[in-house]
Amino acid sequence: MSYNNLSGNGRETPMYDASTADTQSEDSAAPSHSAKAVPTIEGRSTHCRFCDNDLTHSMVDLGLSPFCEDFICEDELQNPEIFRPLETMVCERCWLVQVRDVYSNSEIFGEDYGYFSSYSSSWLRHARRYVAMATKRFSLDQNSFVVEVASNDGYLLRNFVERGIPCLGIDPARNVAAAAETVGVDTRVEFFTRDMAIQMRENEQQADLIIGNNVLAHTPYINDFIGAVSCLLKPAGCATFEFPHLLQLIRHCQFDTIYHEHYSYFSLFTVCRMFESVGMHVVDVEKLETAGGSLRVFVEHAASDNASSAAVAAILEEESEAQLRNITTYDDFGDRAASLKNELLSLLIALKKDGKKVIGYGAPGKGNTLLNYCGIKTDLLPATCDRSHHKHGRFCPGSRIPIFPPELIDTEKPDYVLILPWNLEREITEQLAHIRSWGGKFILPVPSPRIVE
Ligand SMILES: [Zn+2]
Repeated sequence: MSYNNLSGNGRETPMYDASTADTQSEDSAAPSHSAKAVPTIEGRSTHCRFCDNDLTHSMVDLGLSPFCEDFICEDELQNPEIFRPLETMVCERCWLVQVRDVYSNSEIFGEDYGYFSSYSSSWLRHARRYVAMATKRFSLDQNSFVVEVASNDGYLLRNFVERGIPCLGIDPARNVAAAAETVGVDTRVEFFTRDMAIQMRENEQQADLIIGNNVLAHTPYINDFIGAVSCLLKPAGCATFEFPHLLQLIRHCQFDTIYHEHYSYFSLFTVCRMFESVGMHVVDVEKLETAGGSLRVFVEHAASDNASSAAVAAILEEESEAQLRNITTYDDFGDRAASLKNELLSLLIALKKDGKKVIGYGAPGKGNTLLNYCGIKTDLLPATCDRSHHKHGRFCPGSRIPIFPPELIDTEKPDYVLILPWNLEREITEQLAHIRSWGGKFILPVPSPRIVE
């Protein structure tokens, strides 16, 4: 099936002016506030955004929630908040999981929305290791050209700059792009679209390597996006994408990674089908620990003739054994999320009755899904803290839990620290190892609430 034919009845055609807008962003990265970058897609999805099949099967209904990165300022505390439906549907043909209700980025991302990748030291290490691997694997040098889509503040591409390898970042967020420029990363402040890719190809700017980390999930126009990748990649080039693995979401009950900004949730099976639809194929895959269990796929033009690795077959088999293409797997998921909610609430209520002090660590998007789905407010969790100074003095959307600098842990000496970005468990428990000096313990909410001494 060709890229152009994929739409079938034409429903896949973006409901917006493709010459001016598309929407995608790095995980939690902010798009630009400029009018030209505001897409207008919104509404309840009735069809799969990849294969156009009717969507009839719910995976989990998380009720109503505000946008998870819409942090509240102190002078907004008296204002009401809009709670929107948060439910995921599964396509029984291509097995793509997607949020049912899609909102425009202009609604999702407010004026002060800002996520800077460079605030996570483990993510910086991950980026450095990736660049070392890619430089060697693809024999990149000063004659190569690397493009990263959703390049954020240049946290990754700066490593290519240091190696003298030409590169370009693409990110719609003006504020993070400005930060990238200060570390020497040339950045186009735009959404990545097929039109843009065609223009770059005409300007002989095709890439040897295209990088897209945690961007697929934020792309409502999947077919436009993968068409753009196919267009921009040199015939012998390679594109790599990292995305949270649907298998881990289901296996470990990571329902809190579902939020309005995450339009799609992928198995390797679905990603293979997607790239096949634009004449590409997945030649290799690696498992990553990031985001609670991600995959990194290596995608080439089908004409490259490189056979798929054994790793691709192995993970497809693993998905098959886990019944990822069986609808009953999705039917069970909502009950598992509800059980986790009951357990976490029971634990926090018991600790409160015991007079224990509990403080949160982190204020990630996933934390807000968790807090709002579980109905946790300041009576059970009076405060949380975060390393990003952009969030200090603000309040979590919905729960209105205040966010402080991490030093709060030292001044308050809580009995328990609830780790909201549980995917960074190792990093955070190491950073906060000293809480044990006053008998402090950690609570990890997912896959089921547990206390770590
Ligand atoms: Zn589908």
